This record gives sequence, structure tokens and C-alpha cells, in this order.
Amino acid sequence: MNDMLLSIENLSKGFSSSGRRVAALDNVSLTIAAGETLGLVGASGSGKSTLSRILLRLLSADTGSIRFEGADWLALDGAPLRRKRARMQMVFQDPLAAFNPLAAVSTVLDDPLRIHGIAAKNQRAGEIAMLLERVGLTADHAARPVRSLSGGQRQRVAIARAIATRPSMLVLDEAVSALDVTVRGRILELLVDLQKEQGIACLFISHDLAVVRAVSHRIAVMDGGRIVETGPATTVVAAPQSNAARALIAAVPRLVTDPC
Ligand code: ADP
Ligand code: MG
Repeated sequence: MNDMLLSIENLSKGFSSSGRRVAALDNVSLTIAAGETLGLVGASGSGKSTLSRILLRLLSADTGSIRFEGADWLALDGAPLRRKRARMQMVFQDPLAAFNPLAAVSTVLDDPLRIHGIAAKNQRAGEIAMLLERVGLTADHAARPVRSLSGGQRQRVAIARAIATRPSMLVLDEAVSALDVTVRGRILELLVDLQKEQGIACLFISHDLAVVRAVSHRIAVMDGGRIVETGPATTVVAAPQSNAARALIAAVPRLVTDPC
């Protein structure tokens, strides 16, 4: 367990809504090794985003603990937390909501480089050009406002921004769900390439098992705030053990007819 990049232990989180108590996370434990992509799949409302928000320290847990790169992640605060945030980055579903849509691509990428002290001022333009190239864009995109880009290009910028701080881990919550099928496929290819090239670990979250299977080494299945199944991606798809996994497979007919 100790050589894991990330270990989540017995994480629980409840919400009260209209007088009812919802257990959004119920004793969730997971590990991710360095360089591994863990797919987290589950129906809407199963607790996936609650887990990602706690991981990114946007929401506090009721109970449980998280170790990340050897640190007691949920206990970090202040400057040590700010420093360590560079190591775990997020890619959101909607990049326009995450950045100022009027900002130029270069500004979106300059911010993390400046804030986390990744590159000196006179090196940042070069670093930005390199990041753009790495995600399949060109230096010409740097001057364009984010709003003028297509959905796929925006998501490439979001990925460039996420890798700008040289993280050991990315959390992607429904990061390709808003994209049409062709663009989605290209972004998934980019993620697999980056993951191989740079050995960045990913927690890849989606309600779509076909998408998760395309990028993940292992898959964890969530249902009602619990992890009900974990296994190698091919095993979970070929021989699901839980009702939740079977239901997710049934929702994607091409998983049955088009294995690859
Ligand atoms: P998923 O991302 O898998 O769709 P979520 O983590 O968003 O699931 O939600 C899990 C459960 O927690 C759902 O029942 C949802 O309604 C509830 N929930 C999430 N956030 C809140 C909140 N801020 N207040 C009340 N209930 C919430
Ligand atoms: Mg969600």
C-alpha cells in the first residue's frame, strides 16, 4: 500500500437535502499507483463527483483519510497545500466554466506557470508553445481567446493547463462527456499518449463505461456511494461481478458488439 501514489481509505461524506440524509460516499477505499489510470464509473448520483471534489480539496470529507505522494493529503493546509496542489490537477467537463472565456490561451497557460513558479518570466512563452504542441495545438493558438476555440480545442487547452504544473496525477471528471464522438475519441487518444509519455497517473471519471474502458488500466465501479467492484479494465467489462457494472455494460451496446 505504501508505494501507492494515492491511497483513499474509508472515505465517507453525507449531505442533508430537504430533510433527508444522503450518503454520497460510504466508506470508499481506492488506490492508484504511479502512472496508472484508474477509471471510476457509475450511474449519475453514485458519488463520483463528490469523490473528485474531496480529492481536489474543494469539499471536506466527514471521515476517512487520503495519502498522496506520501503526505496526509486531507491534513495539509496553507503554503504546503498550495505547493502540493501543483502535483494533482483537474480537468473539468466544461473548460469555459473553469477559465475566463475572454482570456487568451496564453494567459490561461501562463497563470499556473507563474503561480507555481514553474518557469521564469522570459521562459514562459517557450514553455507555453511546448505545452500547446504536446496537446496537439500550435503556438498560433496562444493569442486566441479561449471562447473562439472549438470544444475539442478547449479541452486540449484544459489538458495543457493541467499538465503545466508537472503533476503526478490528473483527475478528470466527465472530461470528454460534452464532446461529440469523433472529437471525444481524439481527446481520449491524447490522454493515453500523454499518460504513456509522461507517466502521469489519472483518475478518469465517467458515467460511460465504453469511454472509461478506452483509457483505464483498472476500473472501479460505484453505486450508491460505495465501490462495488474493482478489477482490471478488461475483466470488469468481460466478466462483471456487480449488478451496477452489468447495468452500465447493458447501457453501451457497442461494448458487447465491438470489443477492442
Ligand atoms: P455523480 O457525480 O456520480 O453523478 P455526485 O457525487 O454528484 O454523483 O452526487 C452523489 C449524491 O450526493 C447524489 O445523491 C447527489 O444528489 C448528492 N449531492 C451531491 N452534492 C450535493 C450537495 N452539495 N448537496 C446535497 N446533495 C448533494
Ligand atoms: Mg458527477
